[in-house]
Amino acid sequence: MANEAILNAWLYGGECKSNLPKPARPLHFVLLGAPGVGKGTQAEFLSKKYGAVQLSTGDVFRAIKNMPAETLSPAMKEAMEAMKAGKLVSDDTVISIVKERRGCLASGYGFLLDGFPRTVYQAEALKTLLGELNIKLDGVLNYALDTEEVVKRLSGRRTCKQCKTTFHVIFNPPKVEGVCDKCGGELFQREDDRPEAIRVRLQTYEESTAPLAKYYEKEGLLITISAEGSPEEVFNRTEKILKERLGI
Ligand code: AMP
Repeated sequence: MANEAILNAWLYGGECKSNLPKPARPLHFVLLGAPGVGKGTQAEFLSKKYGAVQLSTGDVFRAIKNMPAETLSPAMKEAMEAMKAGKLVSDDTVISIVKERRGCLASGYGFLLDGFPRTVYQAEALKTLLGELNIKLDGVLNYALDTEEVVKRLSGRRTCKQCKTTFHVIFNPPKVEGVCDKCGGELFQREDDRPEAIRVRLQTYEESTAPLAKYYEKEGLLITISAEGSPEEVFNRTEKILKERLGI
């Protein structure tokens, strides 16, 4: 079960407290990989098995989008415009949003950072922040997949408006077209999953985010995992690596 209390605090701000039992060994990982490789799905599996909370900066920006315009700061409005165009939000805005939510990093449940850091500058800021919180990163799971396959996966993705569960029109279709299997909510195509935005996102990823892999390799934290095959196959690979590295 997802840790709704911590997730809500991450999305909307506020105190990071939950009544769920804490895992004996909280995971502290960054998830890397181009949009569409299936990071989110792997994060869900990891969350279920190890209790760590998936913290996605993209989800924070999507949540902001549904807030009344008059409550948004100019930085937030700028962030939304960048997101709509498939561009990256400025480093300083993203970093301040994560810093505001530092309690979610130190919740004791562990975390799977998804979509952050996206640049080396953000990675440096995360390193400083984790140092202040006395948290050691276990590693960086870098999911790797062919570009053609990424485009195929992304353009077919559909997301539930209510519970955010994702489906795929070919690989993981809902039982009823356009309707979420879990909560009956309406499925939609994310603005940034449309072909025009996908192209920009992949290019942006190559330019800004791929150097991150190099950065984490130097830090001795990079763990590259093939994202080919079914989500279960990819998760088996991930579990095996966690067992080897952390003995869990
Ligand atoms: P995602 O769901 O991670 O693909 O993020 C969706 C969009 O949110 C991205 O295309 C960016 O516009 C913005 N975004 C999310 N995380 C970051 C980040 N760490 N740095 C800059 N922009 C981000």
